[in-house]
Amino acid sequence: MSDPNELTVLDPATEEVVATVPAATAEDVDAAVVRAARAQTRWAALAPADRARLLRRFADAVDAHTEELAQLEVREAGHTVGNARWEAGNARDLLLYAAGGAERLVGRQIPVPGGWDVTFQEPLGVIGVIAPWNFPLPIAAWGSFPALAAGNAVLLKPAETTPLTALRLAELALEADLPEHLFQVLPGYGATAGRALVDHPDVAKIVFTGSTRTGREVMERCARLVKPVTLELGGKSPNIVFADADLKAALDPFSFLDNAGQDCCARTRVLVQEAVLDEARALLADALAAVVVGDPADEKTQMGPLISGRQLERVRSYVPDDAPALRGTAPDGPGFWFPPTVLTGERHDSPAAREEIFGPVAVLLPFTDEQDAIRLANDTPYGLSGSIWTRDVGRALRVSQSVRAGNLSVNSHSSVRYWTPFGGYKQSGLGRELGPDALTAFTETKNVFLSTEVPAP
Ligand code: NAD
Repeated sequence: MSDPNELTVLDPATEEVVATVPAATAEDVDAAVVRAARAQTRWAALAPADRARLLRRFADAVDAHTEELAQLEVREAGHTVGNARWEAGNARDLLLYAAGGAERLVGRQIPVPGGWDVTFQEPLGVIGVIAPWNFPLPIAAWGSFPALAAGNAVLLKPAETTPLTALRLAELALEADLPEHLFQVLPGYGATAGRALVDHPDVAKIVFTGSTRTGREVMERCARLVKPVTLELGGKSPNIVFADADLKAALDPFSFLDNAGQDCCARTRVLVQEAVLDEARALLADALAAVVVGDPADEKTQMGPLISGRQLERVRSYVPDDAPALRGTAPDGPGFWFPPTVLTGERHDSPAAREEIFGPVAVLLPFTDEQDAIRLANDTPYGLSGSIWTRDVGRALRVSQSVRAGNLSVNSHSSVRYWTPFGGYKQSGLGRELGPDALTAFTETKNVFLSTEVPAP
């Protein structure tokens, strides 16, 4: 049983306790909202250039501590050190990008008879950001930094298992002279601190990233207060490989093994055209055998552990020992290890092929032609991401227009950049983060009409 008063952070590679952190209660959330609302009023009244300057100073503080943040991410989340460094840099770069947005958050002037019509993008107030454990640092940043740049205060609730980088970010914000209480971190349990944020009438918007099940509950509770939500939820993304593709690049196993598969964009349905299925199987078998799984702090490691014993049990439940599969290797002993795996005997409608496993496990499924590939790719409640591999440009365009997902890549597995929009179709989410419009999602549009009629004498 977990202690309701504190969070225990384990190193997932060793199961050693890294830290214990007091858990925020519903009363702590109430008090934080009051403080944040006061800070927000002053923050919004600053000139945009001054907000931008302070956010750039915050980016400098993050930059000066990227290695420290990366090492924390290795310890609390088991990310490989190379990935963790990229993540700390991503947080810094997004801060700089969002800072520029503070000065570009402009309204419009719309021609109307009898006067002038202008619009303003006004901050919403206090934003609640609820982050998951799979990418603790970047996802906290994606929800929080554009909201701050648009003139809001942020209350960030990190996941129970991974509060440390978020807490450090809040300290760095203060070191950079961001106003006190503007960016507060509330480590706590979902059922207490998370729900308190969602239910609070003075929290103007919730940005939630996590499972579709919890996201649905968050949306239902927000609906009672007509509170806007951004939801970034699960995925079961396809990697569509046509016979004419560069097969070795297309079947790069890091399309689903990055972060040990605990990635909502992981391309876990490997759809391969029948004519090259045997070749694909052989390429995948070789690639899985070559993956270096082990100590995430070692520079040579390519894949670390899963986040927790609970997650390991969940992943195991999809992969019986006798399941037909291609398998890599993983360490024994302490730590939450699972080998890279491609299930080869699944049907398109089996649970392993339909449900988000959130581990280093993909399914290999054949398709016949373009229409069959599109049908299989879209036959899922999810729609977050996906890759399309073909040398036929017309087909690449047709398929990318037909797959119902928010983030696609053609002849690439890369589709997440802080300056391009990110989000899901269908049950993968609601709204978009990042990209040129990120700040607008944290504003209300106000329309003002000014009459120019000459008053009657
Ligand atoms: P979760 O969705 O329950 O937790 C995500 C965040 O929501 C955490 O901060 C948690 O404390 C908070 N939370 C939980 N219940 C809440 C509630 N009732 N109200 C408000 N906040 C609440 O995810 P989990 O239990 O940690 O993981 C379960 C599964 O979710 C995973 O196995 C995986 O399939 C999926 N998942 C997906 C993503 C993603 O990015 N798509 C991220 C994490 C987990």
